[in-house]
Amino acid sequence: MKDKFLQFIAQTSDAPIGLEISYAEGPVIYTTDGKEYIDFISGIAVSSLGHRHPKVIEAIQAQIDKHLHVMVYGEFVQKPQVEFAELLVRQLPQKLDQVYFVNSGTEANEGAMKLAKKHTGRTKFVAFKNSYHGDTQGSLSVTGRDVYRDPYLPLLPDVHFLEFNSWDKLDTIDRDTAAVIMEPIQGEGGIIPAEKEWLQEIRKRCDETGTLLIFDEIQSGFGRTGALFAFQEYEVVPDILSLAKAMAGGMPMGAFVSSSEYFPAFKYDPPLNHVTTFGGHPVSAAAAHANLKELLRGNYLKRATQIESTIKSRLKGKGIVEVRGKGAMLGLQMTNKVLTQSVVEHCFEKGILLGWTLHSDTLIRLAPPLIIKEELLEQVLETILQAVSKYV
Ligand code: PMP
Repeated sequence: MKDKFLQFIAQTSDAPIGLEISYAEGPVIYTTDGKEYIDFISGIAVSSLGHRHPKVIEAIQAQIDKHLHVMVYGEFVQKPQVEFAELLVRQLPQKLDQVYFVNSGTEANEGAMKLAKKHTGRTKFVAFKNSYHGDTQGSLSVTGRDVYRDPYLPLLPDVHFLEFNSWDKLDTIDRDTAAVIMEPIQGEGGIIPAEKEWLQEIRKRCDETGTLLIFDEIQSGFGRTGALFAFQEYEVVPDILSLAKAMAGGMPMGAFVSSSEYFPAFKYDPPLNHVTTFGGHPVSAAAAHANLKELLRGNYLKRATQIESTIKSRLKGKGIVEVRGKGAMLGLQMTNKVLTQSVVEHCFEKGILLGWTLHSDTLIRLAPPLIIKEELLEQVLETILQAVSKYV
């Protein structure tokens, strides 16, 4: 199967991990050669409730017995979409009162940016160095890493990149700016939380200039950081919130949430000016509804905070600079690249999946599922520590 995978599936790397998946359940992925891997990256912050959470599976099964896709987004009333949108909006500040469903993270940002342009009548964007917002052309235009952008230039004009957490040049946000787009906790940039006062200043600057503030919580959302959404701990409310990844318990789905005052921009001049065929697919929506109900019912947010304190207190010593981040969205900063690679490889041999981030080669990504038990967590941390002491 591996040969055919390399032959028929377009590749994005010369060295894909290449695990041949048999099945996945809870925190574990099982391969066809009989091995087990503890998924300590959750498919990159997707399966926060573990793989195949029973409530999510039940909702998917019930929905496929009713209907699959029936009509492009927004034309028919589909109960799973409506129920999920209502529950989601009820968790958010009043201003974020309507949801537009898409299929992925990058599409959420594309829609968010178009909404900001249409609402403000402006075209300029302010974004941040080392950000990651997705690989389609609009999202790539606001992604702050030249090596990924350069091969695809020209991208959107009038995008300005500022240093993350820097008070310099905030006057770049001006009356020509449609929106500031940012991750409250940079993910691919190396798990870097925004400073609270700085984020509040950006909100202030946006208010003063009539600029919309887009928070990309595609990675940090749905409980990963110990709050349902990271922005809730910053006491800064965005005008548009982009979501995806963990939203639908392992099914593909994205969304941008904003105000019912702004969304009419998609209805006029011309009508139907932002549409999608599969956005809000009923099976994904049913899964997302079950996933969110479970997140709200269980103790998962608290668990994310416990995971943070266990990991931060255990992972210390020579070779480790720090553990950064919030909840179960953490980065283990190592002293050098060779050590980083050796630790990840050693853990892989021992059946633990650790990850990288796109913009850093000295950081190990730790994003365990929130259902992970303390005993298994300890076991993983012990293996990481053994690897560090072996290779440091
Ligand atoms: N924004 C952020 C913050 C992300 O982490 C990602 C994915 N890593 C995206 C956008 C893009 O999401 P998708 O891969 O679903 O397009």
